[in-house]
Amino acid sequence: MFEQPIKRGLKQRCARCGQGSLFRSYLKFRDECPSCGQDFSVADTADGPAFFVGFLVMILFAPFYFILPMVSAPLVLKIVLWIILLSTMFGLALLLLPLFKAVLFNLQIRNRAEEAKWESTGSHGKPPRGWNQ
Ligand SMILES: [Zn+2]
Repeated sequence: MFEQPIKRGLKQRCARCGQGSLFRSYLKFRDECPSCGQDFSVADTADGPAFFVGFLVMILFAPFYFILPMVSAPLVLKIVLWIILLSTMFGLALLLLPLFKAVLFNLQIRNRAEEAKWESTGSHGKPPRGWNQ
């Protein structure tokens, strides 16, 4: 149970059983696993996958944005190279986004990550006087 969340995430499969698919569309999760019934509403990756994919793609493609303007080539060739570079960059980002989202989602489910909840254990955390909750 809950083994290999990264491997199963890369396959876009449930963290618990490894059989049911996570997504019902490109980036929309199912409500629950069709195979084992794991509730998928317990985790939310928010914009975490976009952050990691954006950073990775930026690191990979940043050198080209400095090198390409310095290349002495006809304008038409430069335009073609820019189109290839940009379409490759966007294509890679769109390809990686569901994979990163599935891995982060599976890791959240595996580690039972959830939103932090404030719980007062003493005087800290008490609301100021006159504060009505
Ligand atoms: Zn499952």
